[in-house]
Amino acid sequence: MEKEILKVIEQKEREVASLCSELIKRKSENPPGDVSEAAFFVRDLLKEWGLDVKTVEPERGRVNVVAILKGHGEKKLLFNGHLDVVPAGDPKNWKYDPYEGRISGGIVYGRGACDMKGAIASMLTTLSVILEKDVKLGGDLIFHFVCDEETGGQFGTGYLAREGYVSADGCIIGEGSGNSVLGYTLVVAERGVIWAKIKAKGRAAHGSVPMLGDNAILKLMRVIDVIRTLPDMELRIDPEIERLAESSMEYLGPFMRAYKIDPEDFKRNMLRMSVNVGVVRGGTKVNVVPEYAEAEIDVRVPPSVSLEEAINLLRDRIEGTGVPGVELELMATSEPSYQDVSHPFVNFVRRCVEEVTGRSVPLIMMPWSTDARYIRNLGIPTVMLGPLNESPHMANEYVPIRDLVMCAKMYALIALRFLGHEA
Ligand SMILES: [Zn+2]
Repeated sequence: MEKEILKVIEQKEREVASLCSELIKRKSENPPGDVSEAAFFVRDLLKEWGLDVKTVEPERGRVNVVAILKGHGEKKLLFNGHLDVVPAGDPKNWKYDPYEGRISGGIVYGRGACDMKGAIASMLTTLSVILEKDVKLGGDLIFHFVCDEETGGQFGTGYLAREGYVSADGCIIGEGSGNSVLGYTLVVAERGVIWAKIKAKGRAAHGSVPMLGDNAILKLMRVIDVIRTLPDMELRIDPEIERLAESSMEYLGPFMRAYKIDPEDFKRNMLRMSVNVGVVRGGTKVNVVPEYAEAEIDVRVPPSVSLEEAINLLRDRIEGTGVPGVELELMATSEPSYQDVSHPFVNFVRRCVEEVTGRSVPLIMMPWSTDARYIRNLGIPTVMLGPLNESPHMANEYVPIRDLVMCAKMYALIALRFLGHEA
């Protein structure tokens, strides 16, 4: 039965590509974060297919679709995918309109193709074949298609987790983890995030006599100059995380070199706190000493360092500058997250992926963060498995159809084997 299902999925190229394209057409940029068009499309489809479906909308337009295909046993497997996409930016930078959903030469183009409407299309295709073949699963197959991932997830997966919608024995998130060229990985670790504002207060004065004032911009500059050296600091990293970073580079190394990035730099960046100064504001007029200036910074925190430790480090650095009138205000944070790789679920998924792809599947970490932490925090083993290339968040985002088919096959084998089934 497993073999037959995978064979049928191989013939679903057109179906999976068209699902991906239809999802792309339903624009769901975040910000602003309204995903209702895409969410209602999925909801209606799942209803038509006879699933038990509901929508959870903590704020207008921020819609989550929760669907269950009931099985006859106790086991539960959760597939999670986010419906929101980052803004497309200037359409002039795109070869095709970002929301046309163009399918051409075996590739689907458009915002969200790879991150991650493609994976959602694969999940839906897996489901449609299970239904078409009338497979009776030995447990519940659950789908959460969520909003808000790109802005932190508190209205999406975070909300579902908090409000008791998330219960499963294992979870697959369709975030990018590989492709047919490089092979597939399982992503099991990701960094935490601190978004913060550094606020500097000074005193205004006439621009011709700056010594009568206290220049807030210059104060801010002194602090930024110290903060940006945070990545130089070596942190105490769990050996397991070191090993993951190492195996990540075995996989990502060739990719990095192709883009002229030193793999060692990339690895170092993953195991330390990285800092991006993203926004700077300050001053009112050229001939006035600025009384206020602020900067927004994006600091990433590797697993093995807690968020609290990282925030303390940041505060210490700022205090250490001795610049008076400067304070740190947290805007948003998330803990680093790590899936214990000795959990049987990790190895189970890994073996399924190896069987489908015929290649070895390394466990790796990524420098960014996803919704996984919300689900792991409930004690549910969670890994990331989905199509990945260099295009997410860039112009001309794309996904090859063969990757969509490959992911659908992997999802199918995982579902059939994890839950058990009869024809
Ligand atoms: Zn994503």
